Amino acid sequence: MEPYRFLLDRDVSRAASLFPARRTRTVADVGLPENAKDAAIVEKAWELETIIVTSNGDDFLRETRKFLRSTKKKDCHDLFGLVILPNKYEIQKRTLDELGSRLRFRNRGIGWNEVWRKNLCVRVKATGNPEVTQLPRCFYCNKADST
Ligand SMILES: [Zn+2]
Repeated sequence: MEPYRFLLDRDVSRAASLFPARRTRTVADVGLPENAKDAAIVEKAWELETIIVTSNGDDFLRETRKFLRSTKKKDCHDLFGLVILPNKYEIQKRTLDELGSRLRFRNRGIGWNEVWRKNLCVRVKATGNPEVTQLPRCFYCNKADST
């Protein structure tokens, strides 16, 4: 089994059942309090090497950039992908089923494993179409160059 997992932010916790159960953790599952700050969720996702899933995209994009900047030469803060869902549950429900098979990056189909390994951002539009982009990567590892 590929090692990727999802960590669901509170605002998408209703969507937990739409993800593969064995791969999915909620904020409560990983021992964070209900009122955990975004920064704490980002740190936990880094620690557990999970893809973050949220509908609070702008805040998390900001937090992930901030987190990466705290990288030191021997203390890598590279992350493991971000999925931004529309905030309406009905749309999440309608789109999540096929989302994994609709991911494309640089003109070819990709899977969740690649999102995880390459630290990609998957933004699902209200239409259900995913847009995949590269999140900033660790300066020292320069993993971006090797992908
Ligand atoms: Zn690094």
